[in-house]
Amino acid sequence: MPEPLAGARELVDDLVGDRAAEWDRSGEIPDEVLRTLAARGLLCAGVPTDFGGLGATSAANGEFTAYVGSRCSSLRSVMTSQGMAAWAIQRLGGPRQHAMYLPELAGGRLAAVAFSEAEAGSDLSAMTTTIEPDGDAVVVRGRKVWTTAAHYADVIVVVGRYGSGAAAVVVPLSAPGVTVRRVPLPSGCRAAGHADVRLDEVRLPADAVLGGGQPLMLLVTTALAYGRISVAWGCVGILRACLDAARRHARDRRQFGEPLARHQLVGRHLANLLTAEQIATRVCEHASRGWDSGSPDMVIATVLAKQVSAAQAAQGAATAVQVLGSAAAHEGHVVERAFRDAKLMELIEGSTEICQLILADHAVSMAA
Ligand code: FAD
Repeated sequence: MPEPLAGARELVDDLVGDRAAEWDRSGEIPDEVLRTLAARGLLCAGVPTDFGGLGATSAANGEFTAYVGSRCSSLRSVMTSQGMAAWAIQRLGGPRQHAMYLPELAGGRLAAVAFSEAEAGSDLSAMTTTIEPDGDAVVVRGRKVWTTAAHYADVIVVVGRYGSGAAAVVVPLSAPGVTVRRVPLPSGCRAAGHADVRLDEVRLPADAVLGGGQPLMLLVTTALAYGRISVAWGCVGILRACLDAARRHARDRRQFGEPLARHQLVGRHLANLLTAEQIATRVCEHASRGWDSGSPDMVIATVLAKQVSAAQAAQGAATAVQVLGSAAAHEGHVVERAFRDAKLMELIEGSTEICQLILADHAVSMAA
């Protein structure tokens, strides 16, 4: 059987080349790059082959996500959004919706996922967006913020209140009442197409609703699981890029008559970076094994992977800047981008603190 991701890294190399810094500065990934990867199913490679996807395992998709993340965190962010939208449809939708939406996402249409609102960040239970049945239609009203990839997307999976529970709804950007406004000058992942989304009386067919009536936090946890494993692997990529840049620099740059790497305090930075990369890789591999075997521990292993990898990436990128000194003090340098991008990974898909609260609850329930 052919390996589903054969040739994928080479295609990414061709498409990204040395342009990640340019995209970071302009805040824009060329449409052709996103459409080429999307049409090959590579932005959501875990979609099963039955629905026109590549059917990659979580482990293989994770390694590919890390590779993309090592080249361009903005592109990896778009990939995370696409994969999370496909996962939400797969987990929350019925057979008709699988057949309707998944082949489209695996075949080139771009998607984003909107949970957050101005007053509902870490506390998503405060969300006020509503999805209301109206005859054989539904009407969506609300304001979403910071939706990654919304600037590029054809559809947005919007989470909102539905009766006494919650639902997700697939909203085409072309629907009347949808307005997308870009977040100006984000500090990192600048070309990931973050945008605020207004939904003014958006009328959609009722079969656009996924998972109607589920408890809000259950629905959110289901959809976020993919985002968390994807971001965790993306952080592995950030660490690999930083380790690569730092070790090259420490080998080539001489001070006090010796390569930097020979100075033991610099050597300690390299050891810390290697350790960070290895720790992040191992927790991600562990979580992906859970996904691939359908382990009941998969959800908590994913939270652990996200929390550990994001913290390691933020610390590791700062360490890499220290090793490179002024060489990394240029906007767009791979390590300088990593420093900005990695910090944001500690805020999203459940901040470090929110992940720690989930892990603390888990620890308490284990002891019971
Ligand atoms: P707040 O919730 O205000 O938190 C601020 C700080 O307080 C954080 O450190 C947080 O950990 C801490 N805190 C909050 N509550 C507690 C608590 N109970 N205990 C301890 N500490 C606490 N949203 C989407 O829906 N879709 C997206 O695609 C998306 N992409 C994003 C991309 C980027 C780059 C960014 C920056 C944000 C994105 N978001 C997205 C929004 C993101 O999910 C939220 O920013 C995140 O949930 C945190 O919410 P907040 O920024 O409102 O911070």
